[in-house]
Amino acid sequence: MEIINIKDTSNKLYYVGGVVRDELLGIESFDIDMTYEGNAIEFVQQKLQGIEDFEIVQVNEPFGTVRVKVSGREIDIASTREEVYEKKGHLPSVTRIGCSLKEDSMRRDFTVNALYKSAVSGEIIDLTGGLDDLKNKTIRVLHDESFIDDPTRILRGLKFSIRFGFDLDEHTKKLQENYLKNINYDMCYKRVKKELIETFNLNSQAAFEKFIKQNIYKLVTEKDVILPKEDIEELIKEYPVENVWLVYAGCIGDLSRLPLTKIEQKILDDFNAIGELKNDFEIYKAFEKVSTETILLYLILKNKFAAKRYLETLSKIKIEITGEDLLKLGLKPSRKFSEIFDYVLVKKLENPELSKEDEINIVRGII
Ligand code: ATP
Repeated sequence: MEIINIKDTSNKLYYVGGVVRDELLGIESFDIDMTYEGNAIEFVQQKLQGIEDFEIVQVNEPFGTVRVKVSGREIDIASTREEVYEKKGHLPSVTRIGCSLKEDSMRRDFTVNALYKSAVSGEIIDLTGGLDDLKNKTIRVLHDESFIDDPTRILRGLKFSIRFGFDLDEHTKKLQENYLKNINYDMCYKRVKKELIETFNLNSQAAFEKFIKQNIYKLVTEKDVILPKEDIEELIKEYPVENVWLVYAGCIGDLSRLPLTKIEQKILDDFNAIGELKNDFEIYKAFEKVSTETILLYLILKNKFAAKRYLETLSKIKIEITGEDLLKLGLKPSRKFSEIFDYVLVKKLENPELSKEDEINIVRGII
């Protein structure tokens, strides 16, 4: 962590959050967050500007944060601050910049994420019992309003519990249960989506089971959801997909509150559009142009046999004749071409051993 050689004579600069937690757990951290006990922007502008290999990348005045680049590495330096959630479930407003570390720690999500490490002495500052919780593998909120202020913390708690093998402490569990019985759906779903992606991209069946059994999914939909029988983690290991999170989240059915990209929406729309599939030809036509995510959703939620039949067998079958071959046979380009291809496909699905020559003969037989 000491890659940053910032000379802070005031000893008010700290590493904070995930980077301290991960170092204590012996895990590598990707992001480095720091906090300055005071006004970070002024500190950076007055004390750090001009030092070698240092530049200011971005300043966010209202939040008192500044992104800097030191020796090629970007670091966020935040001012210690107090926040208030005027509109629960949305971004808080900053009420004070430059408060004490104790006050700064209270705006954080969990005690294990509220540990500070002095950038000068390396001393760990634990003002909320985070060290004990880290030792006892416990996730604990810092106050009783925590989930009401920001329900995405429920997803963060799930994510960290799976990533580190931690459990929620009993009181935190109770607060979570209470919140999930009385959800305020006016929340920032962009942040909910971000946490869903980070949680489900861990590809963990255990996370999904907790998500359903503990009613955490209720943050996304009011409709009831039951846990599907399939082990989604195993399925994704067998059939890798780009949008891992969407295979899990898609099982909730109703994602209308989430801001989805066009590609994500198409995966769900394709899934919804596929009805009953009665034979190999219907299975092939339904799945040949959709993403694996869609096929996995169909496997999990609709018809395991049909989806497996496609993934394991039918997807490997391809007809070899092309439009050019049909032209060579003297046919004029028309909509009939696709009927011909389908006819050959039916024959090829019945007998995958057919060669290109056989396919051409089949076409000859029908023209
Ligand atoms: P990761 O390894 O997933 O990046 P992290 O703890 O560094 O874990 P970030 O999302 O980068 O997570 O947040 C950095 C720190 O900011 C957290 O450790 C926590 O102290 C605080 N924080 C982040 N999100 C919230 C939140 N929703 N509510 C309160 N504090 C938060």
